[in-house]
Amino acid sequence: MIPFIDGHNDTLLALRLDGQGGPAFAAGRDEGHLDLVRARASGFAAGFFAVYVLPETDEERLASMLPKGPAPYLQPLPAPISLDHARAEAEAMIDLLHQLASDGELVVARGAEDVEAALREGPLAAILHFEGAEPVDPGLASLETFYERGLRSLGLVWSRPNAFAEGVAFGFPATPDTGPGLTAAGRRLVAESNRLGILLDLSHLNEHGFWDVARLSQAPLVASHSNAHALSPNSRNLTDAQLDEIGRSGGLVGITFHAGMLGPEGGVDPSLPLGRIVDHVDYVVDRIGVEHVGFGSDFDGATISAEIGDVTGLPRLADALRDRGYGDDEIAKLAHANWLRVLRKTWR
Ligand SMILES: [Zn+2]
Repeated sequence: MIPFIDGHNDTLLALRLDGQGGPAFAAGRDEGHLDLVRARASGFAAGFFAVYVLPETDEERLASMLPKGPAPYLQPLPAPISLDHARAEAEAMIDLLHQLASDGELVVARGAEDVEAALREGPLAAILHFEGAEPVDPGLASLETFYERGLRSLGLVWSRPNAFAEGVAFGFPATPDTGPGLTAAGRRLVAESNRLGILLDLSHLNEHGFWDVARLSQAPLVASHSNAHALSPNSRNLTDAQLDEIGRSGGLVGITFHAGMLGPEGGVDPSLPLGRIVDHVDYVVDRIGVEHVGFGSDFDGATISAEIGDVTGLPRLADALRDRGYGDDEIAKLAHANWLRVLRKTWR
């Protein structure tokens, strides 16, 4: 079975919301897309586990939900959240991740060797990721503390404004060119993340912010869970110019399974076939090369195409790539080797 490194999941949030926490992850859950039992059965060797901070009030939570209805749509940008709330939530979710690691079946990855061990059937490697830098204070004093707790990947924003940058509002059809670029604190955050060896994730960032990071960052550019805008004109997807820049930097696009980001029709249709995911792989491979494509499922964070279903669909994805003409070596690059190369280059 081909091992995968997966660029994005929201399983920590799902576990936190259902209140069952670590034991349910280890023993297997009835709901959701990912747990240890299913990961082991499917080749899911390593993944980016997101800390995503929900807004404080129900009203704000509703306003920040992913669109589920038909296109066209253009949602207003969700409101910012406070540092105190974000920090407390992040601490709780980091605690939860370390709790998942307590029985030795999962490790919080500190370096590429943890991910390499996972690819050789060692413990599952969980890469701690912030989906939005709201838990980090604008003076960046807390960044190193979070690094010491395991933070190795940082999305400057989720789809809302914060002290560092602004995310894209959810729209279809819509471009990602939706607002201003990085703030002064955002530019400092890029430099400090480079210094510490924290991967910077460009998914959810608007286009001005994207180009600011492209200009400032010393590391390969990464969009952990975004698709090709040319095939699906969702504001969360990447334009051809953005794809080209990621390729030039030696970076990677994590093709996402979210049904709302796959098709030309918009809307969120889980009956879209698995082949639509491979269409995005083909497009980005043709444009920037097979070295610059991986996967970022968005398990437990999005409506997943039914043919994938959950993490147990990964072997079917590998079969679909083979059916489309990819050889074993190329499938290995797409499934894990490209991610591993970028992590080795980015982490200290
Ligand atoms: Zn996301």
